[in-house]
Amino acid sequence: MDEAADQPQTKGKRKPPGRSQERRIWDESGSRCQFCGAAGIAGLQIHHLDENPANTIDSNLLAICGGCHERYKHGVISRNEAFRVKYYLTEGKPPFPLIAAPAPQSRKTTIKVEVNKGQVADKIVNNHYGQKGAPIILPGTVAEDADRYNYLEYLMERLAEFRGAGASFGQKRQGKIHVGVIRSMVKNDWGALPKNLKLGVWQSVVDDLKAKIRNTALGRVRTSQGKGCYHSFEEHVSKGSAE
Ligand SMILES: [Zn+2]
Repeated sequence: MDEAADQPQTKGKRKPPGRSQERRIWDESGSRCQFCGAAGIAGLQIHHLDENPANTIDSNLLAICGGCHERYKHGVISRNEAFRVKYYLTEGKPPFPLIAAPAPQSRKTTIKVEVNKGQVADKIVNNHYGQKGAPIILPGTVAEDADRYNYLEYLMERLAEFRGAGASFGQKRQGKIHVGVIRSMVKNDWGALPKNLKLGVWQSVVDDLKAKIRNTALGRVRTSQGKGCYHSFEEHVSKGSAE
């Protein structure tokens, strides 16, 4: 075991958040673990995104349950996924485009630059977008089929929405669930992120998500009233995601 003196200087002494800060971080996540959805502040811990326990600023903190904190420590939940969930919470949108962007035509782009006052010249710049920015599409995966991919995204959003609506059915606090949580769940259950799932399991994942939606408090109420909980794939393709 390392002695305290051997610890890198960049990782300072653990600085626990104060009461009001803890409350802010809990409120941000709706007092709910953003990985597994476990509700109730008693079971929540504060996770430091950069893994530096001295960096106790709001943007570095995420409320997660003890179980997911352990899963994080064992690498089941990645550091990227934790940052991603935090991004969802603060920005309300995913950190990068979910729909595969078209491959860039060229690595080089010509831009106009001002070389002198009022004098403009062409400059050729390297376009790194194709190397890092574009999502990787694996052959035979859901990402190859935009309709099927979008339908999975729709069902995952729907499940997040329906689980979040549990607050109206006796939960103590409002609990908004982000689709990132559902995406992590699909990854845990099916071994790959939705876009990387083999097309052959698409139908099974769809059936699983539909069953989970129907099984939420809101889903059960709607089903008992004879109301649907989601569009069929065919409806979704023809109507888009408009409700
Ligand atoms: Zn959890």
